Amino acid sequence: METVWTQERVEQLGRLWKEGHSTAEIGRRLGITKNAVVGKAHRLSLEPRPSPVKVVIKRRVVFDISGPSCSWPIGHPGEKGFHFCGERPIAGKPYCAEHAALAYIRPKREGSNAA
Ligand SMILES: [Zn+2]
Repeated sequence: METVWTQERVEQLGRLWKEGHSTAEIGRRLGITKNAVVGKAHRLSLEPRPSPVKVVIKRRVVFDISGPSCSWPIGHPGEKGFHFCGERPIAGKPYCAEHAALAYIRPKREGSNAA
């Protein structure tokens, strides 16, 4: 099937070409084959289009400046001055070394009268 190149279609080809659409896309829009697009563009001496600009998205590395902090409560909730420790916690624990020791190490029972 021969492609009929009306003035309108030629202009449309040129416009789509300049817009940077792929030859396959232009062909689809004009209802012709990709090869017909390439052949016509060549005959029209259309400028070779620049290869698509690859947009390199730099991966932003976000550093958490504040980082995790010890969530050991200091004082009593509701009271003035209540806050969390905020020290740097030890790996895998929500508390700093000092408070992790308090949280996870059971104090020795003293004063046991069991005999
Ligand atoms: Zn702490």
